[in-house]
Amino acid sequence: MTDYLFEPQPVTSVAIEGESKQFPVRRIFCVGRNYEAHAREMGRDPSREFPFFFTKPADAIIPDGGDVPYPPETENFHYEIELVVAIGKAGFEIPADKAKDHIYGYAVGNDLTRRDLQLEAREKGRPWDWGKAFDDSAVIGPIKPASQIGHPTTGRIWLAVNGEVKQDQDISDLIWDVEEVISILSHTMRIRPGDLIYTGTPAGVGPLKVGDKVTGGVDGVGEHSITIVAPREGV
Ligand code: MN
Repeated sequence: MTDYLFEPQPVTSVAIEGESKQFPVRRIFCVGRNYEAHAREMGRDPSREFPFFFTKPADAIIPDGGDVPYPPETENFHYEIELVVAIGKAGFEIPADKAKDHIYGYAVGNDLTRRDLQLEAREKGRPWDWGKAFDDSAVIGPIKPASQIGHPTTGRIWLAVNGEVKQDQDISDLIWDVEEVISILSHTMRIRPGDLIYTGTPAGVGPLKVGDKVTGGVDGVGEHSITIVAPREGV
């Protein structure tokens, strides 16, 4: 047994509906601009431009019902409701028509974003990590196995802040669908069990403040809620 200098970071995991076992998280991939109306509201061309990705650390996960401390160094902290794909089987250079074989299940996620830092990075041609990959930035509800719910391609995707609906579209509006996203990602790097892919957010993104109760869902996949709380103190 390896003798570590200090206790290694525990594995982050996500609950699976109807299953006592947890889904251990390896990597979190996120697709940028994958709904036309959101691309437009971000001031970008909504055409079928080849998708791009960014990542978040696995330990940024916040489960359903969790408290999200308002993050540091932002004055424009945004929600982004997203359909999340949970990978259950390794693959490389996967053809789109074989992508389903690699999917364990689906969940509803929220790609929390420090919009001011993201836009500053975008304008300066810098990496997006400081806008996207910060602590407590990857909200996810329980995973629903595809063996139970199938592979949803239509269904309402929505988000509400304090009960007021802010985002309301359909996952059939995805510019690049789940199978295409898996295929494209797997040509760039090997995907492995435990990978999560946040597939992009519809239009209507906006700011959050301390005290906000955020709910969201995808029909056929589930719902989740979080509460924005005071900034974290200490480490
Ligand atoms: Mn996003």
